[in-house]
Amino acid sequence: MDFSLTPAQAEMQNRARQAAQEVKAQAARLNREGRFPQEILERWAQEGFFGISLPRAYGGGGGDYVSYALAQMELAQACPSSALMLHVNHSIVGMGLAQFGTGAQKSRYLPPAAQGEVLTSFALTEPRAGSDPARLQTAASRENDGWVLAGEKNFVTSGPMADFALVAARSDPTGPPHKSISLFLVDLKNTPGIKMGPVEEKMGLVGASSVSLHFDNAPLPPDAVLGEVNNGLKLALGIMDHARVGAAAMAVGIGRAALQEALSYAKSREQFGQPLAQLQSIQFKLADLATDLEAAALLTLKAAWLKDQGQPFGTAAAMAKKFATDAAMAAAQEGLQILGGYGYLKDYPLERFFRDAKAGQIYEGTNEIMRLIIARDLLRGV
Ligand SMILES: Cc1cc2nc3c(=O)[nH]c(=O)nc-3n(C[C@H](O)[C@H](O)[C@H](O)COP(=O)(O)OP(=O)(O)OC[C@H]3O[C@@H](n4cnc5c(N)ncnc54)[C@H](O)[C@@H]3O)c2cc1C
Repeated sequence: MDFSLTPAQAEMQNRARQAAQEVKAQAARLNREGRFPQEILERWAQEGFFGISLPRAYGGGGGDYVSYALAQMELAQACPSSALMLHVNHSIVGMGLAQFGTGAQKSRYLPPAAQGEVLTSFALTEPRAGSDPARLQTAASRENDGWVLAGEKNFVTSGPMADFALVAARSDPTGPPHKSISLFLVDLKNTPGIKMGPVEEKMGLVGASSVSLHFDNAPLPPDAVLGEVNNGLKLALGIMDHARVGAAAMAVGIGRAALQEALSYAKSREQFGQPLAQLQSIQFKLADLATDLEAAALLTLKAAWLKDQGQPFGTAAAMAKKFATDAAMAAAQEGLQILGGYGYLKDYPLERFFRDAKAGQIYEGTNEIMRLIIARDLLRGV
């Protein structure tokens, strides 16, 4: 087994590390001010991070998914909100288009998403369909040659800024879930009948604005369907497999950032006449966090590597997502504890990592749903 990185992977890791370092202070400031991280996204777009593993022919970098995971482990250390919006473009909408789009859809939508010229959204969740997307109610009805969308989506990341979205809707009101949902490419700026709710007030990831989308008989052209009509649930679940590897990588990044802050604080803060880092109970905390984050990184890279090899990676992605997001949450929680009262202040970054890490246990399938997937595959002998 060879754990070394290829020169291209190592180069990507180094570039992302440097880019993350450059925006670290700015990200903290923007977060405190509650501002959208436009400058950071523009910088990362210039660096080509939006298209790392997307096809070169459509404006991407043509790299492997291990490179993307390595980059996200660095970028999320600086600005988890920006990392999440980049992730939606790259691994949800971008990879979905690359895998299932027609030539015309890819030519129109993929280059601006892969180059970070526009933001994009994924709209699967609904007020009554979260963990169970098979029960979604947004309807897509045939009208003339095209479609008409009616219904509501919520928790749409990047929604207020996105140019277009991948929207899941029920295209056959009578069929079973796995044969009645389609994915639609929706131009959010130029389609009539789309309204946006106010930006949600989230506890964390505040830079990555989330909104609800309301479709009031929004007309879509016939070529708006991604992949086969009525096969959208399968496509969406496949796209989520990729996305979970990226979510795991972001969690590793947040966890490492939290550990790093706790480590340097423990070395400099003195109580009882010695640095906190000399206390064995603090050392044990640091050792546990470092071990779990290392295991999380390995699980994440293995899932990415399996995908790069064209092997099944859904179970590995679910394991990586569950383990890494739990490890990030533990690092943020215990890291904050190591800073004592100062960890609770907004002057220090731990409280932000704590709030940002929590989302990872919820989005892209909650960690309870990850356990269901892992158990289902275990019982099936996959
Ligand atoms: C920051 C953030 C960004 C998001 N971005 C997007 C986005 O861009 N696009 C999008 O479509 N969605 C997005 N989401 C929504 C997210 O995917 C859902 O919140 C998530 O899938 C859970 O759905 P729910 O909130 O409706 O919870 P519910 O499904 O109502 O679940 C509530 C609780 O019950 C548990 N539960 C549910 N079913 C089971 C079961 N069978 N067994 C055991 N436990 C169960 C869940 O794990 C959870 O703890 C985002 C969410 C957040 C927090």
